[in-house]
Amino acid sequence: MLAVSGLEVGYAGRSALNGVDLEVGDAETVAVLGPNGAGKTTLARAITGVVRPRAGSIIFDGARLDQLSPKAIVRAGVVGVPQGRRIFAGLTVLDNLRVGASTRGRRAAADVDWALGLFPGLRDQAYRPAGALPAGEQQVLALARALVSRPKLLVVDEISAGVSPALAVQLFDVLRGLSLAGTGLLIIDQFVNLALGLADRAIVIENGRVSLSSEPARLASADVSWQSTHPGGGDASAKRTKGAPE
Ligand code: ATP
Repeated sequence: MLAVSGLEVGYAGRSALNGVDLEVGDAETVAVLGPNGAGKTTLARAITGVVRPRAGSIIFDGARLDQLSPKAIVRAGVVGVPQGRRIFAGLTVLDNLRVGASTRGRRAAADVDWALGLFPGLRDQAYRPAGALPAGEQQVLALARALVSRPKLLVVDEISAGVSPALAVQLFDVLRGLSLAGTGLLIIDQFVNLALGLADRAIVIENGRVSLSSEPARLASADVSWQSTHPGGGDASAKRTKGAPE
């Protein structure tokens, strides 16, 4: 479904990705792991069109994505839940979802309604400004906003950041449901046990390159210093170094 090859991305002349190759099959879940600054977010941003690669290609369902606008990439079926949520704080919850559904034409209202059905807590707050929601619910909104465009591939960057342990597990349960329903997932998360618990395959990025591609179980037992373990779920064999989110 997704084929990334030779991907190079730089910021102001400094390279962040130095030739990344990656494939995500139909309905496959791939976890992207690696230390801080390795290039994981840059990979997510390149796939979703937020940053332009300076070399390489990103092909999805047979079409090149790497020269398309973010909106055209959403139309092609690839949608991101970005690090830091990036919801529109001044808009209501409902309007955030409507913005998310703007590529859906006449299906938009039905898709917004479907997303609100997945997250009843959001429906109760539909007319509140998104910026007034607690951090965890803002993260739920960021996920819902991505889902309204009915992605074939969802690129999820640090969805557990800043949310309670219980909510992080709930968000991963939603991702699991999506995966079972056939959505492809590319998951970057500080809590490797949550990501590996869901993944069919895992890759490690270090210094802007894929240094390892492996069965999730092999990585869960690997002794690498950047792993952190969520207390509420996933593989208990992953090493704990950072502890739980607040
Ligand atoms: P983390 O786990 O800390 O989020 P990461 O693996 O997601 O890290 P990236 O955020 O992709 O890594 O960063 C890769 C490299 O690119 C780092 O050296 C980082 O400092 C640099 N970088 C990231 N964003 C920018 C930016 N907007 N401008 C300049 N340099 C950047």
